Amino acid sequence: MPRCRHCRKKAVIKKHWFWYCEEHFFAYYKKRIKRVLNKVRLNWKKILVATSWGKDSQALLDVLVDLKSQYWYELEAVFIKLAETRWDNQVKNQFVEFVSKALEAVENLTGKLWVKLNILNLQNIAGKSLPDIVFENGGKACSICGTLKRYFLNKFAFENWFDYIATGHNLTDNVIFIKQNIIATKYEDIYKNILYVLPGDRDLKLVSKIRPQFWIEEEDNVWYCKLKDIKYVSSDNACPLKDVLARKSQWNTHLIVQEFVEKLSEKFDYARKFMEFLRKNLKEDGYDLAKIKKSELMKECKICGYPTASHSGICRVCRLLFNN
Ligand SMILES: [Zn+2]
Ligand SMILES: [Zn+2]
Repeated sequence: MPRCRHCRKKAVIKKHWFWYCEEHFFAYYKKRIKRVLNKVRLNWKKILVATSWGKDSQALLDVLVDLKSQYWYELEAVFIKLAETRWDNQVKNQFVEFVSKALEAVENLTGKLWVKLNILNLQNIAGKSLPDIVFENGGKACSICGTLKRYFLNKFAFENWFDYIATGHNLTDNVIFIKQNIIATKYEDIYKNILYVLPGDRDLKLVSKIRPQFWIEEEDNVWYCKLKDIKYVSSDNACPLKDVLARKSQWNTHLIVQEFVEKLSEKFDYARKFMEFLRKNLKEDGYDLAKIKKSELMKECKICGYPTASHSGICRVCRLLFNN
């Protein structure tokens, strides 16, 4: 029987050659979360946790509640309900089902943890549901969904005076994303992904984002939820809208890179080492936070007043909603 490297008790998980018992796995997990929280001044700050249907945001909410007394922040959760009413369309109905299952899991956890849950209904705040917007505009649903969620999270956090939006970005996803950017030679995007905090700006109506799971691997969140018996719907792959209207490409760089990163990380803690290497070298390169703000050239959207970098001066959400 494998035994924990720290206490010799029965081990439940193997990470990078070492075995951990349940207790020491949670210690390992929290240590990696604290590696981010220790670098940010959080006392008396208001944090809004963005929840969705996945394991990442469920684990994030649970661990942030657990660490609350050590950092003295205030915590609320938010869920964007992307669709509600039923249609005669099968895919749309499956999506409604998917969203309501996700909300159930989030309500279950926030209820257990005594965290205030804010539910934003997209049909009320945007006048349309996600499936309607996707079918009207065409294009990849995941990209449209991501844009809408980022926009309404920021708007809600800004209007309600939150200091940070906490998102469930994990190390594995981040490293995969960076590697894809290297392949596509989109180097500017790499900078945003080596930071714990994306700085906001109240004049621009932009709320700061914090990524507490910056050093957490995807697999760690699966184990976290499993050991704590936290329910979640599934990965993004299960979303019924995922492949609707999307062009299928024969070359799936994401899958190739994902396999590479996951295989190497399993044994060698590769994702962490790669990220540490990037942070060290890009910082030494004279990189600082101010550069990002300038490079983004944000201005106010002519319609809604929220920040946009688009040349037309109209943000993507306004273009999606008003078919501009
Ligand atoms: Zn142990
Ligand atoms: Zn706008």
